[in-house]
Amino acid sequence: MIRIENLSKKFDQHEVLKDISLNVDKGTTAVIIGPSGSGKTTFLRCLNLLEIPDSGTIELGKEKLAFKGQKINEKVKTRFRKQSGMVFQSYNLFPHKTALENVMEGPVIVQGKSKEEARETGLALLEKVGLSNHVDKYPHQLSGGQQQRVGIARAMAMGPEVLLFDEPTSALDPELVSDVLKVMKDLSEEGMTMVVVTHEMSFARDVADEVIFIDNGNIVEHGSPNDVFEHTRHERTKQFLNRIE
Ligand code: ATP
Repeated sequence: MIRIENLSKKFDQHEVLKDISLNVDKGTTAVIIGPSGSGKTTFLRCLNLLEIPDSGTIELGKEKLAFKGQKINEKVKTRFRKQSGMVFQSYNLFPHKTALENVMEGPVIVQGKSKEEARETGLALLEKVGLSNHVDKYPHQLSGGQQQRVGIARAMAMGPEVLLFDEPTSALDPELVSDVLKVMKDLSEEGMTMVVVTHEMSFARDVADEVIFIDNGNIVEHGSPNDVFEHTRHERTKQFLNRIE
């Protein structure tokens, strides 16, 4: 569950997020779409404090923070970040660790779990993302799509309340995209709470419970895929959808 109220973020004088409010209920998949530079990634990064908002509040899982320009100490950041798992465009796997070791790293190092327990969970998660035959391979021995599925298993391994995806398929060759989207669709159907920034409109149409169109740091349109794609209300959303579809 995510509750965001009046979130704003500037880089120097550039207002990138302008007073954004949004709720994402437990079990919901929210897909964020919008033009390049509109603030989508910054918004997602604010949700796990990779960027610190200037003002507003974020409630995520069991944690709530109000931002008033204060410094957020590392302990608070760590606690807050435990609520979510992030999947990046560029996978960010450890190159010298196998797929399984990558997935075990967080639970062992951050959560202090035993290697046996982390290994068992890791193997189950790698099976879930279709990589049972690749658990001992290193990232360079895996395709981009396989690496990204390790990235998803790694984010899941920490047992987060919410998964955050930042353009998870943008760096992939087109033929590898569908395997990754399938894994995300399965997670969504199993009731994982997810916020996904993507340019994949078919994913937004088919999998999202809610679609959010952000332009110039504002939420311009927010509704079901049917609302946003078939009964578009705002001219800016129409222009964006016409350009990309
Ligand atoms: P894209 O679809 O191209 O990834 P986006 O909607 O995700 O775009 P953001 O990456 O959030 O957009 O960027 C929004 C604006 O904030 C852009 O103008 C970008 O240049 C600016 N910006 C992002 N991060 C920083 C930063 N660390 N310092 C300064 N400006 C930044």
